[in-house]
Amino acid sequence: MYKVNDRELLNPSEVIEFLYCPRFIYYMRCLKIPQNEHNRFKVMKGRDIHQYKSQINKEYVRKKIACTKKEIDIFLHSKKLGLKGKVDEVLQLADGTMAPLDYKFAEYKGVIYSTYRIQALIYGALISENYEKPVYTGYLCYIRSKNYLAEIKFTQRDWLILDAALKDMRKIIEENYYPKATKYKARCVDCCYKNICVEGLEASKSLEISGF
Ligand code: SF4
Repeated sequence: MYKVNDRELLNPSEVIEFLYCPRFIYYMRCLKIPQNEHNRFKVMKGRDIHQYKSQINKEYVRKKIACTKKEIDIFLHSKKLGLKGKVDEVLQLADGTMAPLDYKFAEYKGVIYSTYRIQALIYGALISENYEKPVYTGYLCYIRSKNYLAEIKFTQRDWLILDAALKDMRKIIEENYYPKATKYKARCVDCCYKNICVEGLEASKSLEISGF
């Protein structure tokens, strides 16, 4: 059991950031250095996205899914997983399973980004534990593609990736363990921690040398 209070529970953004580079969680949670996430992730937050969401015909969206019951804007947490998150919609499906539905202020471009997938997976894990029902599917509604509804089938591999990520994150936080850098060095170039991280400083230096 992960012994934490609610403030210490990890949120989906932190898991996504950890998968982007394991050092993010170290800088944020161990050294308590906040990041300016708007510089890295171009996401619409707060009131703007809320306004867009309120304009969607959600009944129309849900009619495309065999859904028998839904709950809106549900905050869930799990001390067992060390996770918390607010789910746009918690759906009970006709086959007895459950699913998260998340609205994205984005266009659907034929692929589901891994960040969306992992976020949906986390919501699925939270729903499964709190409602004690199986979750095999997640749904994304792409607002900028006329409410295109994408279905994600969660695989065993997805659950293993999430489980491994959560274990590694706990190790970093509980043991103040300084993790390895991401192997994708291009990520260091515009990283918000590049001025305090060796890899970031090196990336900046090589850009200077190459004249950029
Ligand atoms: S500079 Fe690179 S290694 Fe360091 S935290 Fe940022 S992305 Fe990770």
